[in-house]
Amino acid sequence: MVLDLDRMLHPAEARAAILQRVKPLPAELTPLRDASWRILASDLIATEDHPPFPAATMDGYAVVAEDPSPWREIVGRQTAGSVEAIEVGLGTAAWITTGAPVPPGATAVIPVEATELADGHVVIQREQVIPGENIRPVGVDLARGTLALAAGSVLGPAEIGLAAGLGVDPIAVVRKPRVSVLSTGDELVEPGDPLRPGQIRDSNRFSLIAALEEVGAEVVWAGRGPDEASALRAALLQRIAESDVVLTSGGVSMGDLDLVKPLLAELAEVHFRRVFMKPGKPFNFATAGETLIFSLPGNPVSALVSFEVFLRPALLTMLGAKAIDRPRLSVTLEQPAKPSDRIEFQRAVVTAHSNGELSAATTGPQASSRLASLVGANALVIVPPGTDSLPAGATVEAIMIGPLWGVD
Ligand code: AMP
Ligand code: MG
Repeated sequence: MVLDLDRMLHPAEARAAILQRVKPLPAELTPLRDASWRILASDLIATEDHPPFPAATMDGYAVVAEDPSPWREIVGRQTAGSVEAIEVGLGTAAWITTGAPVPPGATAVIPVEATELADGHVVIQREQVIPGENIRPVGVDLARGTLALAAGSVLGPAEIGLAAGLGVDPIAVVRKPRVSVLSTGDELVEPGDPLRPGQIRDSNRFSLIAALEEVGAEVVWAGRGPDEASALRAALLQRIAESDVVLTSGGVSMGDLDLVKPLLAELAEVHFRRVFMKPGKPFNFATAGETLIFSLPGNPVSALVSFEVFLRPALLTMLGAKAIDRPRLSVTLEQPAKPSDRIEFQRAVVTAHSNGELSAATTGPQASSRLASLVGANALVIVPPGTDSLPAGATVEAIMIGPLWGVD
C-alpha cells in the first residue's frame, strides 16, 4: 500500500497512529526519597497489616468495655513504640497514649477527658462504653495481602507515604522516557544573545523542556540543530541512538527550506505529516528503530498545542500511567468563537461558578505565534470547523490543561 504522507489525518486518527507504536518502558529501582511524582511500575500488595497491632486512637485508659466496676486499679502505662507486659482485666485499667498497642484483655480506650483520678484509681465518667471504642483493629487501614497501590499510580504525597508505611524502599518505578529536544531554523539565537536583523530567539526549546519535565520525561539533550546538512544528519543520528523520543521543532511546513524533513525521510520511517487541526497542521511523526521522532511546527503555540494533544498521551503511555488523558468538560463560551477550516484548539480560561456552571473566556487573539494566548490558559476549547461563529453562551467541549479556576 502506498501511503499518502501528505494526507491530513483527523487528530484522533493521528493519536491512534502514534499510540499504536508506543511501547511501555521498563521498570527501575529508585530510592523512595527520589520517587516523588514517578509512576509505580507494578502493583504494590500490602505485605503487612496496618496497623500491625490494635492501636489506641486517644490518650486515655485501656479498659474492658463490659466491666461494671465503679473504679479501676491502674495496672501500668503503655506508650507508643514499645509493648509493656500489661494485661487488663475486670477492675483494672492501663494508662495509654495515642498510637500505643492496646494491652491484651482491654476492649476499649476511654479518653482521658472522660475519666477522673481518685486514690490512685481511675473513675470512668461514662454511662456506656462500647466494645472497640477508640481502638484501630489490626489491618483496618490496610489489610495484608490486599492491593495497596495499582501499577501506573502516580507517586504523590499519599501514595508515597503509603509505600513508605509498607517498608518499600527502594521502589520499582517506570524509567523516565529519555527525550532530546532539537530546535531548527536559521533565524534562531539563544535567549541570552542579542538579536541581529531577521533573527528571533529560540523559545520552543524552553517551552518543550518545561512541558516534558511536567509530564515526567527526562531531557537528555536540548539544543539547536546545526545549520549545515551533514552536521545536522550526524546530530540527529546521535540523538536517535540515545533517546526514546526525539522532539524537533521548526522546518516541517509545506515548502519549508529547512533540512529536517528530507533528513527524516532518509533516516526514519515517516508515518504522517499533516493533521486536520489548528494550530498544529504540520506535524511529522516518524520512527527509527525503537525511537519515536516527533517534528513539531515552529510556531510556539503550535508546538505546545501539538505537544499537549499528541506528545503528552504518548509519553504517559510509555510511562504506563493509568490516566493519559486530560479531563474534558462542557463549558459555556463567554465570547463568540470564530471557527476555521480545521478543528481548532482555542486557548481559554475556564472558571467554575458557584451555581456549577463552567464558562470559558478567550485569552485574546489566537495567532499561533502568540504565546500570550497560552499564558494563564487552563483549557483548550475545541471549536469544530465551520463558517458561522459560535455565539456567546454556546456550549463547547474543553480540554482542561491546567487547574480549574476558583469560583468567582
Ligand atoms: P517553521 O515551522 O520553521 O516554518 O516556523 C514557523 C514560525 O515559527 C516561524 O516564524 C519561525 O521563526 C518560528 N519558530 C521556529 N522555531 C522557533 C523556535 N524554536 N522558537 C520560536 N519560534 C520559532
Ligand atoms: Mg523554519
